[in-house]
Amino acid sequence: MTGFGGAARLDRERRTVAAMITIFCRDRHASDGPLCEECSELEAYTRLRLAKCPYGEEKPTCVHCPIHCYQPRRREQIRNVMAYSGPRVLFSHPVLAIRHMIDGRRKAAQPPARVPAR
Ligand SMILES: [Zn+2]
Repeated sequence: MTGFGGAARLDRERRTVAAMITIFCRDRHASDGPLCEECSELEAYTRLRLAKCPYGEEKPTCVHCPIHCYQPRRREQIRNVMAYSGPRVLFSHPVLAIRHMIDGRRKAAQPPARVPAR
């Protein structure tokens, strides 16, 4: 286990975002168990964006990323999710959340390539 290294970081970001969406959906959409359709679409979208991130393993957390690759509508959705679940994920997934914050201290380098927002 490499801890803070590359692929593990990406995986952690994905899991942190997924955990936040789950909390949001449970509390706001009264979903019990699986995500509602809207939230599972959002989760799939965030996974796709992470997979396509040109930073790859050098990726900063999305909050600090200079590339805003989310569509405006998706960005609005994920902003709502993070505003709601950000503080809560600390209690339900403390290790994940703390490591995510540590990852977030890294500053992004210049983008390696321009990607069109989609
Ligand atoms: Zn939902």
